[in-house]
Amino acid sequence: MNRLAIDGGPQTKTTPFGTGRRFGLEEAQELLSALEQNTLFYHHGKKVKQFLSDFGRLYGVEHLVATSSGTAAIHVALGAAGISVGDEVITSPITDQGTLIGILYQNAIPVFADVDLRTYNLDPTSVEAMITPRTKAILAVHLAGNPCDMTALLKVAKRHNLVVIEDCAQSYLSHYKGQLTGTMGAYGCFSTNDYKHISTGDGGMVAVNTGDENDYFRAHAFADKNYQRLGNNVTRDLQYLAPNYRMTELQGAVGIAQVKKLPWICERRTMYGDRITAGINDVQGLYPPMITEESVSSYWFYMFRLDLEAFTCTRDEFSTALQAEGIPNSAGYIPDVVYMQPLFTAKQAYVRSSFPFDLTQREYHRGLCPRAETVLQTAIRLSISEFYTPEDIEEMIRAIRKVAAFYLRK
Ligand SMILES: *Cc1c(COP(=O)(O)O)cnc(C)c1O
Repeated sequence: MNRLAIDGGPQTKTTPFGTGRRFGLEEAQELLSALEQNTLFYHHGKKVKQFLSDFGRLYGVEHLVATSSGTAAIHVALGAAGISVGDEVITSPITDQGTLIGILYQNAIPVFADVDLRTYNLDPTSVEAMITPRTKAILAVHLAGNPCDMTALLKVAKRHNLVVIEDCAQSYLSHYKGQLTGTMGAYGCFSTNDYKHISTGDGGMVAVNTGDENDYFRAHAFADKNYQRLGNNVTRDLQYLAPNYRMTELQGAVGIAQVKKLPWICERRTMYGDRITAGINDVQGLYPPMITEESVSSYWFYMFRLDLEAFTCTRDEFSTALQAEGIPNSAGYIPDVVYMQPLFTAKQAYVRSSFPFDLTQREYHRGLCPRAETVLQTAIRLSISEFYTPEDIEEMIRAIRKVAAFYLRK
């Protein structure tokens, strides 16, 4: 048996991971031409508009609204969908807080359904069990690029007359039964923050898929302080509150160049993620993330789980040993399910207030979504980059296999 690097044995990976430049002359040229417009306002310039139309062409989507972040995109979708005070929105406990912020700013209440142990995505049965007369929407997070079970979620939504919003911040060009994530729900929300598949520094987009132009107009106005700029004349009709989540021309300019790279980025990530799964599928005690037959993931990261009964080590010891082999990784994705944050356990969305939580009897506590908790306690997360080389991926596989073999209970 190979001695582990952590015990003084040879390191599996000794060469640096492949890297590359995300931004180049393409972005610089677009930025220069944005400045030459003599305006950086999206309504007067052409860059944000082109960014949206290029992205829309790639996605086959006609109605898109640009936003200042992914968090903003989700808030805009909720606002356009009419989510308001005291409504409940069902979502996943394994996500970025950006999924939840818009819900609470609408003074609606996040309700957490449990996830599937193999995909880490919302379990439609658990979602349906959480529905009450207050429920208005399902906010489905395609975690790490892996599409949710949209057929089942859309069926549940239809049965209970709920809006489906897709959080695609981590799932660019992912497919489910031949359809792109972000095109199946009423709204698809994207983030272009600097960590995502493509970056505009910060930014986001909402795809409005309802086919109703009024939903598009409402989403557009909701991102722009309720300015209505899409018709012939600009009006401000303040029927209710809407924030300023506008994207600038500078972000739009970078976005134009980034969208051109998106197919390549996603193809590489899909190839690399699927390759890791093929390389560790047969390892006893390891559960690779399940991407169903009908899905394609663009792997924002790669997260597998350990069957802790099968190993003599803890999850954290596995993670440390893998790190010592030269493979950076982290134990889990977020430290704990989001509902264990004080914001939820202490029901404090706003300081000195328990509003809007006090509109319902919902409690947030350990054990609320046991499978989600298990996922985060047993997972190892690896970074995936489109700039990694095929050899990097093979070395990741070798290192995982080595550590697993060493700790396997005989
Ligand atoms: C990144 C992310 C967001 C928020 O995006 P920002 O642009 O950072 O506001 C929302 N949901 C998920 C799942 C994310 O990963």
